Amino acid sequence: MDHAHHRRKLLARRSTIPRPALFLDRDGVVIKDCHHLSNPNQVTLLPGARELLRHANATGWPVVLITNQSGIARGLFDWNAYELVTNRLLELLGPDAALAAIYANGHGPDAPANSWRKPSPAMLLAAGQELNLDLSGSLLVGDRLSDLQAGAAAGLAWLGHVLSGHGQHERPRVTACIGPCGQFRGENPSSRQAQAVLLESLLDFPFGLLGPQAPHHDELFYR
Ligand SMILES: [Mg+2]
Repeated sequence: MDHAHHRRKLLARRSTIPRPALFLDRDGVVIKDCHHLSNPNQVTLLPGARELLRHANATGWPVVLITNQSGIARGLFDWNAYELVTNRLLELLGPDAALAAIYANGHGPDAPANSWRKPSPAMLLAAGQELNLDLSGSLLVGDRLSDLQAGAAAGLAWLGHVLSGHGQHERPRVTACIGPCGQFRGENPSSRQAQAVLLESLLDFPFGLLGPQAPHHDELFYR
């Protein structure tokens, strides 16, 4: 792994059985988008984030954060500042709303297509390998079209788009990628089509999608 461009924090054990996961974008989905956030004092959880993570923890669903941090490539902040933001986020979430892993890349828009930068599925594929995830049964919520494109390219089952963060101005482009039966039209027409769902915020997330998984989450997370 290219350490200059990537950060990966594993907070859970690799699952012994392949299990579906919930992938969440960070800025504009879990926390308020503060435009190249680098000050831990500005980390604010968005409505519904804690509740969703608590529910996922209780039903045994690993939650993986996948985030583009182009502020690194733009020289606006460094990985140390990023880590301080991460620590504050984990503190605000607390132990009953734990994340299984966080994948981040510091590429700018000129990143190569196979880099970790979304819309590349590379961060999701790495998480799938490292945590033993069933990507074909996994879910994702993002505020940008590129989040959903990454999820579709990774072969996920369900993609939610929220209006928080950049969601409002990305919504028309997202809507244009959804077919008449709710299928997401990704770049790769041969890949199985994910179901795409328009949400207002995480408060709308259908908890029914997170059916109980075995074993219990206590066996999953590092304590
Ligand atoms: Mg975002």
